[in-house]
Amino acid sequence: MPKLERLQIELTSRCNERCVHCYIPQNDGNQHMDSDLLWSVLDQCRDIGINQIILSGGEPMLHPDFWKVIEHANWNNCRVRVFSNLTLLDDNMANELKKWKVHEVQASLYSVEPAIHDAVTRLPGSCEKTKRGIETLHEKGVPVFVSCPITKINKDSYPGVLFFAQGLKIGSVPDNMIMAQSNGNGGNLEYRLNIDEALKVIQNVLDNDTAYDAERFSPRYHNPDTALPCVQGLCKNAVCINAKGEVVPSPEWYYVLGDLKKQTLRDVWENSPRLKQVQNITLADFPKCQSCLDIEFCGMNLGLNANENEAGDPFVIPKHICELARATRELVHSHKNKQKEAA
Ligand code: SF4
Ligand code: SF4
Repeated sequence: MPKLERLQIELTSRCNERCVHCYIPQNDGNQHMDSDLLWSVLDQCRDIGINQIILSGGEPMLHPDFWKVIEHANWNNCRVRVFSNLTLLDDNMANELKKWKVHEVQASLYSVEPAIHDAVTRLPGSCEKTKRGIETLHEKGVPVFVSCPITKINKDSYPGVLFFAQGLKIGSVPDNMIMAQSNGNGGNLEYRLNIDEALKVIQNVLDNDTAYDAERFSPRYHNPDTALPCVQGLCKNAVCINAKGEVVPSPEWYYVLGDLKKQTLRDVWENSPRLKQVQNITLADFPKCQSCLDIEFCGMNLGLNANENEAGDPFVIPKHICELARATRELVHSHKNKQKEAA
């Protein structure tokens, strides 16, 4: 049996932002994780030997016990990463993150232009707060990483985010894949880039960021067992717990593997039939993918599939995914050919 090594805990599904592309349904059902359940989960992590935890949301700093969780995880010798929009961060909080040796904080910045960033988050003033939060953490020596999901709103201004991160010498990554909400509502997909817009982003990345090019566009999947890790590697060593206390394969995929209000994490990990089913998914479950020329450029994942399918079926691949993978392969090959000719 594989060992459970990593856990993502959604401390809360509430958020002070209302990002246009967010996969979390933003409604009255949003809630904080119950604190007693949280302490129990952290104790179980220690007993199982889980030493890597991601604290996410929603906005995790909204949870009233956020700081106690950081402290508790530190006592357990856990490596903690935090996914936050940083709008609530102040100097003292940055000092606390430093004191408790948080391994990394990851924040999304959509543009360095306030009007554009704030149009994505629908929270006026959020751009300045997030930028200041990133700078403050960097100054204090807390490792920070910038992700930049790209939507129709920020598609022309995202390079400024990458320059901002480069200026601070911190890592950043653009991400043009937006998925439908976890309740199957695809309203947010109106902000997803179409193929031409996505290709423009990829061309820009190829032209300007060779490191990213090498990592993202040359994965070299010689071994089919390791191709599409978001499909074949799911639940191999990690699971997520949502704010309701349910165990799910990944934060965006609402496929309940177990309920920690009724059973232990160990019980879910060792006995959940659904978890075993997810662990056993291989490329053989996707006959079309086995001989696909575009597989190296494919961003397919099970949560994305399920959220875009009316019946929530993770095995039905949205057309967009295959079209984008094919167009990406053609673009990358043409780019590499041009580079060879120019050399
Ligand atoms: S900050 Fe994150 S959780 Fe909050 S609305 Fe934006 S994408 Fe969703
Ligand atoms: S592009 Fe489509 S067929 Fe090819 S690997 Fe991806 S999902 Fe499978």
